Amino acid sequence: MEEKKYKIAVFPGDGIGPEIIREALKVIRVISESSGVTFEIEKGLVGGGACDQHGEPLPEKSLSMALGSDAVLLGAVGGPKWESLPHHLKPERALLGLRKRLGLFANLRPVVAFKELLDASPLKSNVINDIDIMIIRELTGDAYFGQPRGIIMEKGLRIGINTIIYSEEEIRRIVRVAFEAAIKRRKSLVSVDKANVLESSQLWRDVATEVGHDFPDVELRHMYVDNCAMQLIWRPSQFDVIVTGNMFGDILSDEASMLTGSIGMLPSASLGQKTAMYEPIHGSAPDIAGRNIANPLATILSVAMMLRYSFGMLREAKIIEDAIRAVLKDGFRTGDIYREGTLLVGTEEMGNEIVKKLKALLKPV
Ligand code: NAD
Repeated sequence: MEEKKYKIAVFPGDGIGPEIIREALKVIRVISESSGVTFEIEKGLVGGGACDQHGEPLPEKSLSMALGSDAVLLGAVGGPKWESLPHHLKPERALLGLRKRLGLFANLRPVVAFKELLDASPLKSNVINDIDIMIIRELTGDAYFGQPRGIIMEKGLRIGINTIIYSEEEIRRIVRVAFEAAIKRRKSLVSVDKANVLESSQLWRDVATEVGHDFPDVELRHMYVDNCAMQLIWRPSQFDVIVTGNMFGDILSDEASMLTGSIGMLPSASLGQKTAMYEPIHGSAPDIAGRNIANPLATILSVAMMLRYSFGMLREAKIIEDAIRAVLKDGFRTGDIYREGTLLVGTEEMGNEIVKKLKALLKPV
């Protein structure tokens, strides 16, 4: 049988990035040993570290590493050290550059409340019980890329400009991804916009409705973003798949992360034409970096998404998720999800516990 081999470009990044990626790599190693699939890991620099060493957040070498890989795994970038750099040199530009160059237009953010963590959410457990939401955020358009942009001078005063812009094709392809996801789930899709105020949102709503004609089995609802922000807290279990633009998706998915108890629990996949990118939704958390207290589970869950979406290793992806559930059931918690009566562990110890459980679950029966 032909040996399966995949190349993964790994960018640990800044802040807690290297700590959480270290634990994710342990998981990849165990999966490789048990499945016989070879993962060729190539590590590169992006973000603040790349600025320090190469004077730019996304050096050519890292970009070609990403372009030549089968999947990209990223920690997080940014931090106070680089905040005063000019806009085009800021670490976060590396993310935008990777998304643009890899053509990653669809960001998938599953929001699943682990039963074991119901008490870690600030919301009442009866509100978040059973939530299983897939937020699909458009990633390459909207105000984050629209032109014109900048800060200009007019009559001696500064004016900040950004442009919210979406073409029909851009809306159509992301909404189609969302319908296709919904059809494999509970067949319910909420498209989020601000069509009462924004023309770009009116077009979004029209195109979403048109695409919906091709998916008669999926129930499509339109919701204004302000209402959605409220509904997510009030009745989150009503949502199956949510699709929205870049900026609304950015904000709503962070809000939704609190349903699960911590931003440290949420993975993401960014899909495009070929190479996909996987990363936790949180940032580089400079406030806790280097202290072995960051939660590595969002990154490990991102590895599960990588196995599922890029390599078709559905069994292994599920086993990683089962291992996480089992470790949480045993009571292990990093600081962000810790409650009295549970066992407080550090980043590394949490990774080791997952590895132990994984090895047990992967044993042939
Ligand atoms: P953040 O997500 O880094 O942190 C927000 C809060 O959540 C902090 O209190 C942090 O300690 C906590 N937190 C985050 N991840 C955690 C984890 N795994 N375990 C435990 N606690 C965790 O957001 P921020 O503070 O607004 O941004 C910090 C830096 O990260 C900024 O430079 C920002 O631009 C950057 N950022 C990068 C990405 C990315 O790389 N994808 C995303 C968002 C923000």
